[in-house]
Amino acid sequence: MKLKNTEHIFETVKRRNQNEPEFLQAVEEVLSSIDPVLDKYPEYESVVNSIIEPERFIIFRVPWIDDKGNTQVNRGFRVQFNSAIGPYKGGLRFHPSVNGSIIKFLGFEQIFKNSLTGLPIGGGKGGSDFDPKGKSDNEILRFCQSFMTELSKYIGAYTDVPAGDIGVGAREIGYLYGQYKRIKGLNEGVLTGKGLPYGGSLTRKEATGYGLIYLMEEILKHNNDSMKDKTVVISGSGNVAIYATEKAMELGAKVVALSDSNGYIHDPNGIDLDAVKQLKEVERKRIKEYVKDHPEAKYFDGCKGIWTIKCDVALPCATQNEIDEESAKFLVANGCKAVGEGANMPSTPEAIEVYIENNIMFAPAKAANAGGVAVSALEMSQNSMRLSWTFEEVDEKLKDIMKNIFVRISTAAKEYGDEGNYVVGSNIAGFLKVAQAMYAQGTV
Ligand code: NDP
Repeated sequence: MKLKNTEHIFETVKRRNQNEPEFLQAVEEVLSSIDPVLDKYPEYESVVNSIIEPERFIIFRVPWIDDKGNTQVNRGFRVQFNSAIGPYKGGLRFHPSVNGSIIKFLGFEQIFKNSLTGLPIGGGKGGSDFDPKGKSDNEILRFCQSFMTELSKYIGAYTDVPAGDIGVGAREIGYLYGQYKRIKGLNEGVLTGKGLPYGGSLTRKEATGYGLIYLMEEILKHNNDSMKDKTVVISGSGNVAIYATEKAMELGAKVVALSDSNGYIHDPNGIDLDAVKQLKEVERKRIKEYVKDHPEAKYFDGCKGIWTIKCDVALPCATQNEIDEESAKFLVANGCKAVGEGANMPSTPEAIEVYIENNIMFAPAKAANAGGVAVSALEMSQNSMRLSWTFEEVDEKLKDIMKNIFVRISTAAKEYGDEGNYVVGSNIAGFLKVAQAMYAQGTV
């Protein structure tokens, strides 16, 4: 879509953020959705000008000692993007591909996602170009302690509350939390995704994957359909992919493929989820090992081929830009009805155009994977109250939150004349709440 009200704003963003393609991609999508909002609320132009600039972007050195006694140096990041509706909230990603552009795109998207949950959380994100793969437990511990030694200066239970993301799971959150507590002497909910014995919330581990399936079920229901008997392809085999698989199977779908960054498995009989959990969560092995004990399944090198497998529902749950135009066309040609983004920005803009032109039911990441951060906010509530809710209590709240997200995004899309376009609906609904808060607080 051509920009009208916000074109000059995007020109400034491009000039200021050269060499940041992922950030520009995320901003352009939001601007193209909210452009018509400025016809109705011209006073929000100043908000748009402000919202695209992080409140703060911290970059720091992370020195740590490997098992051979050598000093290694990584780069750490935390973007505190927007605190209009609550403390900065968003995960930490440890992956060699992490750079300023990726952290900023993730932090920017987080503003709108967090707003859509209806909970009082602002947008932030962080991480490092540290690669946890192949590192010993002791190396992970030393890296996490060094990372938190610096990060602890900028975060707090009422200012900025990080969580996990790619490469940061329960083990890393534990080490990070332990170091924060040693430095600050505070037992406060400064991180979410904590272990259950020390302030974690039941259902947090499952929340992003379950939430994704709850939202897909709402969208399908709206179109007189459901997840039952659907053939599903899911990329990734990490936290989001595993729990999306679990909930999809519980609702009667058959998940036939999963992947990691080396390749994918296709099991036409349906994935054996216990075997995947053992491989990925316990043994930390590659997905390729699955075929050793499952002779009916096949392993293929490379990630892209997974989207050529025939399916009714496709759920990209690995990383950004993993579905391009060509892969989207394969999905359409094979009769795929719905795509839901468990990962952040996994579809390129060209792929999204293909979905929309072909009337695919499409749930964009800001709405589809918001269940994780929503339960993180519930973990913050429990920490503040010094209470622990049961699995069922948190799961019920998560279901309600995902239902409400569907109502918000479908209502906004309809109101702005683009019924069924949940990209537009998510961006507008997410933006309006933050815009009202920024305007009211005079922080534009
Ligand atoms: P994990 O680290 O648990 O798993 C990531 C999975 O994606 C692994 O299978 C990994 O394979 C694969 N992967 C990572 N990078 C690439 C790549 N460049 N190419 C292909 N595959 C890749 O992360 P999560 O499951 O937590 O996160 C997955 C996605 O979901 C991310 O986009 C994240 O931002 C998003 N997300 C996560 C939330 C959460 O609560 N955890 C909340 C909202 C969004 P390998 O092991 O080979 O690296």
